[in-house]
Amino acid sequence: MDPEALVQCPYDKSHQVRASRLPYHIVKCQRNHPQVARMLATCPFNARHRVPQANLRSHIASCPDKRLSDLPHGTAWPPPLPPWWPFPAVPPLQLSPLSPQRWTCPSATG
Ligand SMILES: [Zn+2]
Ligand SMILES: [Zn+2]
Repeated sequence: MDPEALVQCPYDKSHQVRASRLPYHIVKCQRNHPQVARMLATCPFNARHRVPQANLRSHIASCPDKRLSDLPHGTAWPPPLPPWWPFPAVPPLQLSPLSPQRWTCPSATG
């Protein structure tokens, strides 16, 4: 792919990013969209590919970076998913839960 070609950010459809910058953009952008990041799986053939988990199987079947020739003879296709699947390369940010403390009015104590 042309490294200068604009590609669409998987996290925000309004983002158009140069293909050469996409890996960096994805790392930044997934922090801004943890909910979206949780819904996306990383392609096993190209870490730049982020696809909705529901579409992962069809993406694997049609991934342009898939290299069947790399597979040893007799390997079943599609291969079993690796044990780390479907964790993203970068773990999602931990969102701190809301404080369990009740709101109290300081002047109301006592
Ligand atoms: Zn983005
Ligand atoms: Zn792919």
